[in-house]
Amino acid sequence: MSVDDIKMIGVIGAGQMGRGIAHVSALAGYNVQLMDTNADALDAAMENIKAYMARQVKKEKIAQADMDGALPRIQTGTDTATFSDCDLVIEAATENEDVKKAILKDLCPVLKPEAIIATNTSSISITRLAAQTDRPGQFVGMHFMNPVPAMELVEMIRGIATEEKTFKTVSALAERMDKTPVPAEDFPAFIVNRMLMPMINEAVYTLYEGVGTVAAIDNAMRLGANHPMGPLQLADFIGLDTCLAVMNVLHEGLADSKYRPCPLLVKYVEAGWLGKKTGKGFYDYSGEEPVPTR
Ligand code: NAD
Repeated sequence: MSVDDIKMIGVIGAGQMGRGIAHVSALAGYNVQLMDTNADALDAAMENIKAYMARQVKKEKIAQADMDGALPRIQTGTDTATFSDCDLVIEAATENEDVKKAILKDLCPVLKPEAIIATNTSSISITRLAAQTDRPGQFVGMHFMNPVPAMELVEMIRGIATEEKTFKTVSALAERMDKTPVPAEDFPAFIVNRMLMPMINEAVYTLYEGVGTVAAIDNAMRLGANHPMGPLQLADFIGLDTCLAVMNVLHEGLADSKYRPCPLLVKYVEAGWLGKKTGKGFYDYSGEEPVPTR
């Protein structure tokens, strides 16, 4: 399938990433079928997409007509059967290998034989996920960054069986979404998260060992390393469950103790303090301004 053959894109998972992928796909002119098992997540996603596009119109990044054209192109549903007309399906559900494997098993029988499957996983082996499908040659990693409408990069990851044609088609699609594709090999966490997550994990160790408070650690990295966000603020933004899942993949996949997830990160996740998406992580977001939780 060439990029010109792609007309309808399916997106699985309407969380932070899935809604962003639906947003940029619809603005690029594609019909989008957004699916989540949680109907509330779908409602929240549509609200979020509308509000985000309205901000883009206000900032003159897109025209009102772009927004008016894009919103009706997004359909939502709670069933994989809705993907039967899709030319490409992008999986962006929770970062859990068993969840993703079960989704892929359900998805394949409803797809057209020529349809491509992409996964937005942050860290899980593309080769291993592809092996769950009936089309490993038409399976590829398409790793968007958060927030999708604002971030230019899409890491493109080949599994061992990914056909060159599939890789080229999906890379060209990323460009049509105004993104810059960067190729990465299929090793745990690829390029960005291989470096970013150990830095975030080290920031949590710095907190755990009492070297600095949440505010001190974030201020130090913003002002001292010129990072636009401190590492703990960034962790809250990504989702602490996703950060922990990526560290576990690095730890298990590379078998090196330097990737050991910080016990404090584990504790936050066990508490359900997953960051901005649950209202509390290294900061509490219930008031006007975020307040550090340590
Ligand atoms: P999220 O927790 O915000 O959303 C996950 C969504 O998946 C939820 O709405 C959940 O209801 C849904 N879901 C769970 N099981 C499902 C199923 N069986 N079928 C359909 N939907 C299901 O997570 P997120 O931050 O959007 O992350 C999603 C994926 O994107 C993960 O693989 C993550 O690693 C990856 N990713 C995340 C970031 C980030 O910064 N958060 C960046 C790049 C990639």
